[in-house]
Amino acid sequence: MTAEIISGKELAQNKRDEMKVITEDLKSKGITPGLAVILVGEDPASRSYVRGKKRACEEVGIYSELDELPYETTEEELLEKVEKLNQSPHIHGILVQLPLPSHISEEAIINKILPEKDVDGFHPINIGKMMIGQEGFLPCTPFGIVEMIKSKGISIEGKHVVIIGRSNIVGKPVGQLLLRENATVTYCHSRTKNMEEITKQADILVVAIGREEMIGSEHIKPGAVVIDVGVNRNEAGKLVGDVKFDDVKDLASYLTPVPGGVGPMTITMLLHNTIQSASRSLK
Ligand code: NAP
Repeated sequence: MTAEIISGKELAQNKRDEMKVITEDLKSKGITPGLAVILVGEDPASRSYVRGKKRACEEVGIYSELDELPYETTEEELLEKVEKLNQSPHIHGILVQLPLPSHISEEAIINKILPEKDVDGFHPINIGKMMIGQEGFLPCTPFGIVEMIKSKGISIEGKHVVIIGRSNIVGKPVGQLLLRENATVTYCHSRTKNMEEITKQADILVVAIGREEMIGSEHIKPGAVVIDVGVNRNEAGKLVGDVKFDDVKDLASYLTPVPGGVGPMTITMLLHNTIQSASRSLK
């Protein structure tokens, strides 16, 4: 068996084409969706992410502002900046790129963003709403993963989903979203014992560890759907996932590549949330 590749790049492009039409329609009603992105410091990976997000906004017709602030920015200054954006009628989504410098509390900044503009879906109000099934903003990476699985018509109901990783931005919420789709969900993490025995039971395996090619054929049940969230740079400087792609591709039924998998869908769901926020402001 050779796995069918779930191309996040392709799916993202289709969704962005649809979004262009929705954005045009909103503009004709007098609303231009607006996203503000704040970057603090010089981290090259973060800088490349935020520029990618700005480019994606331009592609679908979303107005975007990028604030690149120096590393020395204080927490107070950043809180003030967020407050200004909270008040701005042109801005429907606010994204503060993480991680922040250690002298700034990420919690304080996330809590300051109005939940109605928290298009990253990290505010405790939006996380709570997701947990109890109320309408809010879904966190972009988990949201994108569910869309990728559904795009192939893979049924989630009753499936055993195993997630490796329990971070607040990927592992935990993706489990919640798949539970909502009636999957049976198991989490693995760094303290899990006999992880292979558990991952081998997975019909759908979501891997979000951040360890270069840690997961191989020994972890996978034949025919499993494998979603690789990891983004790592190997010794040769190449982007690789948490899964050994070549080792797993003849065993899995579906597999996501890195790059071109979950990454483009994360940005696309950010655009989706921004457009959703603008549409809500119309109502
Ligand atoms: P994180 O906050 O560092 O969490 C990593 C998780 O993996 C933790 O729950 C940790 O367990 C677990 N873990 C670490 N070593 C392990 C091991 N040996 N065995 C089992 N579990 C282990 O990372 P994250 O933010 O969730 O990101 C994970 C990966 O996804 C990273 O490569 C990141 O770059 C990537 N990512 C990609 C996107 C995208 O759009 N493509 C978006 C977000 C993140 P403990 O909780 O026990 O420490």
